Amino acid sequence: MKTFLALVLALWPLAAAGASAAPDCATPVSVPAPLDGPLQPMNRVQDLRIVLESCRRDGEAEVLATRRMTVDGEDLFLAVDPERLTTRLERAACWTCAQTSVEAQAQIRFIRAAERYSRAPGKALPAGATWLDNAGLTAGRGGAFLTGDLCPSRRPLDRAFLKSLEQSGVATPIALSISGVWAQQHPEDFAWLRREKAEGRLDIAFVNHSFHHPYRPAIADAHNFLLVPGVDMNEEILDVERLLIANGEVPSVFFRFPGLISDRASMGAVREAWLIPVGADAWLALTEAAPPGAIILVHPNGNEPFGLDVYGRLRREGRLPKPFRPLVEAP
Ligand SMILES: [Zn+2]
Repeated sequence: MKTFLALVLALWPLAAAGASAAPDCATPVSVPAPLDGPLQPMNRVQDLRIVLESCRRDGEAEVLATRRMTVDGEDLFLAVDPERLTTRLERAACWTCAQTSVEAQAQIRFIRAAERYSRAPGKALPAGATWLDNAGLTAGRGGAFLTGDLCPSRRPLDRAFLKSLEQSGVATPIALSISGVWAQQHPEDFAWLRREKAEGRLDIAFVNHSFHHPYRPAIADAHNFLLVPGVDMNEEILDVERLLIANGEVPSVFFRFPGLISDRASMGAVREAWLIPVGADAWLALTEAAPPGAIILVHPNGNEPFGLDVYGRLRREGRLPKPFRPLVEAP
């Protein structure tokens, strides 16, 4: 009896809240997560799963849902703007959604890009090679698309580099490929990035860089990064999204393979998750130049200072294509 009473008392506030609160449909969901606190636990986000649904509601343009989930007990979905490729979280209760398919959405920019780039072959490899190098979206048109990878690192975030990108009055677009392990290693740097974004200095798109970002020195690419045996691609993808959402951020539609190395199977998993794989035609530490429309790759995680030196030199010499544009404009 005592247990039963305790249960009733424990559930009472939930039932009361559920009955009285009409969902706020006017604005997208902002999951509360303080900008100066510790990392929020990923288990705030439950039952995150991949879907492809077309969602409508009065007075709003149609969106595609690519994920459903429960956050702090409320049913949400990840909404993708089908033409602009931007993402936001919406309350399931506010929309009417129906399952859809690639065929039904074949003319939509988002689906065209996801399909096209997850089938892009990447750099030419030796005959018989089983892996792919730099496959996916590697360039846009006009200006440049700055991307920075946050692979696991013992070194701190290079905040000075990121501050050097900032300009008065307008947020500088940058796509940061985040690995879950990096965020766990550097919660204060992650919070700092969130603040630069929230306060309008950096227009950050968070690109999924896999949760664990496996890497073994001196192992051939064919067996390294996400091609290490035993990797669960779905877990690698969804756990980064859970971490981002639990911490008040929204995943973008992009995925960057660690080392830019993929294979048919891992690329298939990215395609089935409705993500656009992003390579780079200007990995500055290797290319030391960036053509117009380049997707530029640097590492602000402290692991590759040479690439940042190259960036600084190109910038001083006026040899960086301008302006920097949001990655959603590249596909
Ligand atoms: Zn990486």
